[in-house]
Amino acid sequence: MPAIPSSFRTSGTNLTRAKTHNHRVVLEVIRTRGPIGRTEISEITSLSRQTVQNIVGELEGRGIVEMHAQKATGRGHPGMKVAIRAEHACSLGFHVDRLSVTAIACDLLGNIVWQESRQHSASTVAAANERILDLAAHFRQAHGQMADRLFGVGLAAPGPFEVPGHAVRDRDATNFSEFGSAENLGVLQEALGLPVVLQNDASAAALGEHVYGIGRNFSSFAFIQFGMGLGAGFVLNGALYPGATKNAGEIGHVIVNPAGPQCTCGNRGCLERYLSLNALCERLGLEPTDPASVVRIEALFGEGDGQVLDWMSDVAPYMRQLVNLVEMMLDPQAIVLGGIIRPDFLQALLERAEPLPERIDGIRKSEDRIRVGTSGATAVALGATAAAVDALYAPSVSHLLL
Ligand SMILES: [Zn+2]
Repeated sequence: MPAIPSSFRTSGTNLTRAKTHNHRVVLEVIRTRGPIGRTEISEITSLSRQTVQNIVGELEGRGIVEMHAQKATGRGHPGMKVAIRAEHACSLGFHVDRLSVTAIACDLLGNIVWQESRQHSASTVAAANERILDLAAHFRQAHGQMADRLFGVGLAAPGPFEVPGHAVRDRDATNFSEFGSAENLGVLQEALGLPVVLQNDASAAALGEHVYGIGRNFSSFAFIQFGMGLGAGFVLNGALYPGATKNAGEIGHVIVNPAGPQCTCGNRGCLERYLSLNALCERLGLEPTDPASVVRIEALFGEGDGQVLDWMSDVAPYMRQLVNLVEMMLDPQAIVLGGIIRPDFLQALLERAEPLPERIDGIRKSEDRIRVGTSGATAVALGATAAAVDALYAPSVSHLLL
């Protein structure tokens, strides 16, 4: 007899999951809308007042939330409101690629309490790990009291990541696949002495925008990460969609020209062979693994360089194709564009893609369909801290989600 998949089991596992799920939902409401009354939480979540009462009591007992007395307004009894205790704990988030690391420490409300960026000495896992450990030590030194309340570390890097038993292909500037190997995560977890969660950079940025940025306005949206490669993260019905092997959103490897140039993934004519900073580096004769290349591209763009603007016009059809693909497949409320380059560069890229293809629902206004993200370069690291927060609140659920 074939084994019954664990997701079909109706034992205590599912009850535990349901319970953790309720905790996560209640916390999410308190985090995004607090201070908030328990009745209101019950109305928003459709959980019974008793369940909400129990969950809030438990969270209060753990020191994660606190009760605030509200002033009486007009008639009626002044209620108690629940709020997150932002200083209860903090998390570290690292945005890592082959070139550099950006580190952020956040309290439970996503307030950035510390931030630093460093370039690697070489584009290797060892060099990246060294920088991460350096930065973590630096944070602990500078913020001893907060460091004592660290509960987890979020890591975000450009995928695709290796699936156990299957080593990924070629390594180049567009991915950092080997960084995300289970072996390396074990090494970092051991060295940091904290639980570590990994996401691909686009998913982390989607989560960052969802929790702290423009994505707060949407329950379903796609985030496009424009970096050396091209990736996407999807928040669908309020939750991040990870894919079966955490590799959802590798949209840069959608084939747009079967006779096109060879790609590291083994196929030909992938979208990111045209639409990515790596492709622009190739056009300009810049080295994609050199951190100075992005700085150079930004400077050229700032000067209105003809080669950069010509490239934008040349790849505009691929940008249109990307928007069309995502909208037709997912029917998102919006697409958010972000990445490792200045926002006005992304805006210019979008403007050249006008007019966008028709949406199936007939919405024409481009600014309602695709917009540049608000969290900027910190979105990925912010998202990484958000992933760690999720893991703190609801280990089993975040395991399912991330
Ligand atoms: Zn490819």
